Amino acid sequence: MMMKTWVSVLPLYPLKMLFIRCFYYSLISLFTKVWLNLEKHSMDKLVIDLEELKKRSEEELPAFFDFAKKVKQIPLSRFDEIAHPIVKEITSKIDCTQCGNCCRHQEPGVSEDEIERLSTCKNIPVKEFKDQFVAWDKEGISFLFQKPCTFLHGNICSIYTQRPGSCADFPGLHRPRLKWRIKQVEENYSICPIVFNVVEKLKEIL
Ligand code: SF4
Ligand code: SF4
Repeated sequence: MMMKTWVSVLPLYPLKMLFIRCFYYSLISLFTKVWLNLEKHSMDKLVIDLEELKKRSEEELPAFFDFAKKVKQIPLSRFDEIAHPIVKEITSKIDCTQCGNCCRHQEPGVSEDEIERLSTCKNIPVKEFKDQFVAWDKEGISFLFQKPCTFLHGNICSIYTQRPGSCADFPGLHRPRLKWRIKQVEENYSICPIVFNVVEKLKEIL
């Protein structure tokens, strides 16, 4: 009411318009600042630093088992409904090119076609590639055994567009029936910032 009265006493139409514009620009600027601060705050809360991840995941491990027990009580599709939006949000906020930790710790599965493709990337014959980089588990599944992965340069995969499907799929939280893969989530909890932060967020709401 005060503002309306003040504006109405301004003598000239252009001055009134100027005042109204300034008022709206200030409001927009204020809302933008608040929104950016909220975004920053939510980013600040994410654990991205790998040293901190190691420490926090060790501290939180006992609570992880309580979390896993709670997850067991939730119906399969309901858990996907709860978890997947969180997975999407957190994945969008974490930059894998600043991390690369999965490529230091995982042994990604590779098919015969992928082995052939990767040997071409290395510019060596398939047999030589297998001798140097591939192992088989007791079920006969082949995987890259070198840690860190031979294709990791810094934090970045040097063959990103040619990488195996299992790398592209990691950490796999977006796939249906996540509840059935809680053991895999536990294994990656101390390695992958996406997994850690998704679990921590889920712990807050379950
Ligand atoms: S192939 Fe690329 S994405 Fe896969 S583990 Fe190696 S460096 Fe990482
Ligand atoms: S998937 Fe996880 S561990 Fe791998 S680079 Fe991204 S945040 Fe890091």
